[in-house]
This record gives sequence, structure tokens and C-alpha cells, in this order.
Amino acid sequence: MKISTIETKSYITKSNLPASDYVINPYVGCPHGCKYCYACFMKRFTGHDEPWGTFIDVKKCDKPLNPKQLTGKRVFVFCTTQIY
Ligand code: SF4
Repeated sequence: MKISTIETKSYITKSNLPASDYVINPYVGCPHGCKYCYACFMKRFTGHDEPWGTFIDVKKCDKPLNPKQLTGKRVFVFCTTQIY
């Protein structure tokens, strides 16, 4: 498993999902590599050559979350990643 740290401008992303206004995903990548993965298309944005399921980029942001931005909003938090 290749684990790296990447800089991001914000932990929060505006969502187009019908069930949420914002998404927080602290990682890019996943250690599981499921054959049915709905997120493996993300690999093309990462610059990784490794197969999906063999790398994780941990996002680091110097800007703290702004709770006021999320007040009353539906936020979907991705937390399925388990780093080995
Ligand atoms: S994100 Fe990870 S756990 Fe979820 S489907 Fe894809 S490979 Fe599997």
C-alpha cells in the first residue's frame, strides 16, 4: 500500500448527490480495490500509475473547516477507508 499526503484547498466539496449538499472525503484512493467500485474513475485525476486499491493519498488542508458553512446542510462523510 502506497500512502502519501497531498495538499488540498478545502476538505469540503459541493455535492451533486441528491442526498447531500456537501461531501467530505479525507482521502483519495482506497485499500480495498473492489471489482464493483463506483469510485475507481477517480484514479485518472490522481496521477497514480498503481492499480486502484493500492494507494491512498491523505488530504491535508491548512484551512480549517468552517462550521457556519455547514449549518443546516446535509454533509456526506466518506470514511470507509481503513489504512493498514
Ligand atoms: S471505494 Fe474502496 S471500498 Fe468502496 S467500492 Fe471502491 S474499492 Fe471498494
